[in-house]
This record gives sequence, C-alpha cells and structure tokens, in this order.
Amino acid sequence: LISMLKKNQTIVNLLEKYREMSLLGKINAILQWDMNVNLPPKAAEGRVQQSAYLTELITQKWLDSEFRKLVEAEESYGPETVTKEETAMIRNIRHAGKFYWNVPMKLIIDFSEVTSRAFMVWQKAKAENRYADFLPHLRKVITLSREIAEKLGYKDNPYDALLDLYEPGFTTADCRTIFGTIQPELSKIIKKIKDSRDYKTESPLTDGKNKYPIETQKEFADLVIRKMNYDLEAGRMDISSHPFTETLGHFDIRITNRYKESDFRESLMGAMHETGHALYEQGVAEGYDGTPLDGGVSLGIHESQSRFWENQIGRSFDFSKFITPHLKKYYPTGLKNIADTDIYRLMNLVKPSFIRTEADEVTYNLHIALRFEIEESLINGRSNAKDLPEIWRQKMKEYIGVVPKTDREGILQDVHWSNGMFGYFPTYTLGNLYAAQFTKRMRSEIELEKNVEKGELKPILIWLRKNIHQYGSLYWPKELVKKVTGEELNPKYFLEYIKSKYSKIYSLK
Ligand code: MG
Repeated sequence: LISMLKKNQTIVNLLEKYREMSLLGKINAILQWDMNVNLPPKAAEGRVQQSAYLTELITQKWLDSEFRKLVEAEESYGPETVTKEETAMIRNIRHAGKFYWNVPMKLIIDFSEVTSRAFMVWQKAKAENRYADFLPHLRKVITLSREIAEKLGYKDNPYDALLDLYEPGFTTADCRTIFGTIQPELSKIIKKIKDSRDYKTESPLTDGKNKYPIETQKEFADLVIRKMNYDLEAGRMDISSHPFTETLGHFDIRITNRYKESDFRESLMGAMHETGHALYEQGVAEGYDGTPLDGGVSLGIHESQSRFWENQIGRSFDFSKFITPHLKKYYPTGLKNIADTDIYRLMNLVKPSFIRTEADEVTYNLHIALRFEIEESLINGRSNAKDLPEIWRQKMKEYIGVVPKTDREGILQDVHWSNGMFGYFPTYTLGNLYAAQFTKRMRSEIELEKNVEKGELKPILIWLRKNIHQYGSLYWPKELVKKVTGEELNPKYFLEYIKSKYSKIYSLK
C-alpha cells in the first residue's frame, strides 16, 4: 500500500489549486468524449468554442502567480520535510508547467491556429493524395515546433525537448540505441518470414465472404472486457471512428471501439487494447485522484498496458485456445469448423504493408523507426519537407520491403504531424518494448499459460495493479521499469519474444 500523503502546508495549498485544474481537465474530457461519440454535425463549431474556453481557463490557472509562487517555494520542499509522493507531485507539476511557463502565449496561440488549419488541409490532401497542398502547412508546423523546442530547452538535441513532453526522461540518444538495436533484427526476421513456405498474407476467414454481424461482435467484445475485469460500473464501451480511452473521473474511465463486418479481429483487438488503457487508469490509487500523481505516467507506459493485453495476451496461443470455443458459438456460420491453431495463425499473420495502424507485431516498430528518423531530422533541419515523399519510399523499401504507390498510403497517412505532435511516435515502440519486459517478469512470478487458457485473467490484473497501476504518475518511466523488472529498459526482451514466437509460427531456422 502507498503511504499516506503528509501535510506540508505549502503543498496542501498547492494541491488545492491543482485540484481546480484537474477538475477543469476532466470536464473538458467529457466534452471531448461527447464530441467523438455523440456530437450532431452542426454542433461542432459550438463545441470547439466551449472546449477552447475551458483550455483558456486551465492555462490561466497554470500561469497564476500565486500558484507559481507555491511551486517555486523551494525551501519548503527539502528532501527531509516531504514524502516521496510530495516530491513526485512537485516534479510532475514542474514538468507539465514547463510548457505554460517557458513557451510565450503568442507562440502557443500561433501553434494552435497553424495546427488547426494544417489538420484540415491534411484531411483533404490525404483524401485527394496531394502532398503539395499539405507541404506549406507542414513547413509552418515544423518551424513552430522548433521554436517551441528552443523555448522548452534541452541539452543535446532540440528533439529531446519534444520527446520529453510525451515520455519524461527519454532522449534522442535513447531512441537511437533502441531503434538501432531492433531495426536490423526485425528487417531480417521479416525477410525470413517472406521466404518461408508458410508465408501468406490473406486468410479465407477474413476475405469478405464471411460476415461477422456487428451486434454479435459487440457481445463478444463485452464478454472479453468483462473477463479482463474492466469495471463497467465505473466505465463503458461506446462506438467511435477511431477507438480511444478517456478518463472523465476516477470512477468514470470510458473506452470506444469500432466494428468491421468482414473481420471480427479488429473489434476484438480494439476492445482489448483500449481496456488495457482503461484498467491502468482504474487501478491508480484512489488517494491520487485530482493530484499530479493521478493517471498513467507517460504515453509509453500507457501503451505498454494496452499492447500487453492486445499482443502478449490477446495474440498468444493460450488466449486462442480460450476464445476458440466461444468464437465457434458466436459465429457459427463463419467459424464452425475452426481449430485453435487456425485462430492463432489468423491473429498473427505477418503482412509487410504500408499502413502502420494495420501492422502486425513484427513490422509495427519499423513503421515507427522510419517516423522517428524523419522527424528527428526535420526538427534538426537536416532534411527538407519537400523531399519527404521520396525519403519515405526509400526507407519503406529498406526497412519493410514494400513501397507505397501513393502519398496517401505513404507520407500522408498519419494525423500526428498535422497536429504538431513531433516526439509522439517513439512512445508506441516504447510501449511494445516495456510490455515485453514486463511480461517476462510477470511470467517468472505467476502461472500465465494455464490461467490464460482458462480465461482466468484476474491474477494478471492483480500483478499489474500491484507492480504498475497503483503508482499512477509516482515513478517516471525509467524508474518504474527498473522497479518492476530490476533493470533498465532493454530491447532484447522484445526481440527474444518476437523471434521465439514467429520462428514457431513460420517454422523459421
Ligand atoms: Mg493506445
């Protein structure tokens, strides 16, 4: 159990102010959730204004001079006088506050306007496959991102400043080491898989001839998320065009899902992924509610929880054994004669493709390696935005072995850069690597196979709660990984996992 918070008076005052920011943030989350799930089309403009007003209120609170004075009252925060929790709270406030305090208001507003416009142009440019239309907007976003990085400050590389916004404590050098280790190994495995006699990229089960009724898919997703012990009295699952998880309150953690009639896998994996995020949020110590320790610590650790459930559990053979009888019952026409080994293969088809969001476990991180290299080079002014489509094609060929014919399937596919989210992509890979390392540790402590095969997932959740969830944002990612696994993040666990799993599936030597 986590020790109680001490009552340092400065911190009590600080937390009172912070609580208001937290409340406004949760209210804004309700508006966001509603916008993505329920909003009638004509309500969009009104909603943007409501949300912008709340953001302005939150910003004012961050800039409030009384609040800043409390944060900077160093003398009351000596290590002897404060608890571990209090020290972490101050650290988190300073980390989050850096953006508001270091970046001039004019730059924040410019950035928000430029990215809003860039996002709209990107949508159209992608639909029409016209990179040239997006280019001038992307240039502006890059220029402002570089200015923001300068204001935030960094030691070695301006990209560090941006990366740190999403994954505190991680640097460009860390990313280089990680991608430098996994990229060549993964490219080799992909080549072997493509040369193997078991290599096929399609299955008759999902070629469109079988229909998996959407109502049934919803029921099935519901069964699985209940098995995962998602507390549906403190959450719910709705539909949106892109699945997401939103924290609206400590007892209100919601997920969304989407459904494709020709393929039952997308909604199943989507439900497991988002429930992984939701379980993390539901597991944070209740006493942290409304404090800077509330919620998951970083995007990478958050993604480790979603990818753990989606891949380490959902795509395991033991889980295939568990769901196969259920799948046969739910989809009697399509899957009547299916075996657990068929389901396992179907869940783990490796298909080198253009689109990151549809990528399998083996190719996924190569999509990220490519984006990391491109954005790091853009932020450092080493490459020119006009050359990106060509750089993209070269790297796709080199890393994944396929070349997109259009920019829509290439440089224009992701939303992130139009929104100015440089530094975000690496957290996806970090999530996969953390998940593999956590799983290795978990396996040494609990009996995973037998439980998963029976659909008995409670011991897993208990382990995650005890080792990761309860701490919320108390430990930063590097510290947390060390605490949980006894060592720093090490990409070898992910590589070992991929090699052993896919060597068996594709009978590789
Ligand atoms: Mg996710």
